Amino acid sequence: MAESPKSPVTQAQAEAAVRTLLEWAGEDPTREGLLDTPRRVAEAYGDWFSGYREDPRAYMARTFEEVAGYDEMIVLRDIEYESHCEHHMAPIIGRVHVGYVPNGRVVGISKLARVVEAYARRFQVQEKMTAQIADCIQDVLQPLGVGVVVEGAHECMTTRGIHKRGVSMVTSRMRGSFHDDARTRAEFLRFIEVGQARR
Ligand SMILES: [Zn+2]
Repeated sequence: MAESPKSPVTQAQAEAAVRTLLEWAGEDPTREGLLDTPRRVAEAYGDWFSGYREDPRAYMARTFEEVAGYDEMIVLRDIEYESHCEHHMAPIIGRVHVGYVPNGRVVGISKLARVVEAYARRFQVQEKMTAQIADCIQDVLQPLGVGVVVEGAHECMTTRGIHKRGVSMVTSRMRGSFHDDARTRAEFLRFIEVGQARR
């Protein structure tokens, strides 16, 4: 696996750190079943934290304007993500719902999903990720408004600590017309119906 271009840490150093943790947990990192584990973990980290090698703002910079005057809300809901909390390095699994009202320019819908990925694949706090996604879209695409709602189940809460399963945290960030206009915000929330069965 290629090392992260931003990282001064080599692959060998990352693997040594995994061996240290295995040993600290009480394992023998030299036993057969664990021999390739440090390499696999380092590779998995490369995948889980690929967001550090991406520039989400670049995804919002390519827009198109030929939308036949479409100026209504565009909503992409149920964008699944896997992230990791920065406090325990434990997974956060959930979905993001994004809506915006264009101001003459729209982006391909896959780009919205890519922005979500680029921020999710980092160590995160859900509140911060929610704000980052909304701010990236608002600041680069400059729509009339943007709304982002994030749902997340935090494994640091379900598998340790207070061991509460089935709990999901919901965070939101509203900017522009989504913040200032209650009707726009209500329309968005109706589209995404957070917390309600819709399948
Ligand atoms: Zn945590």
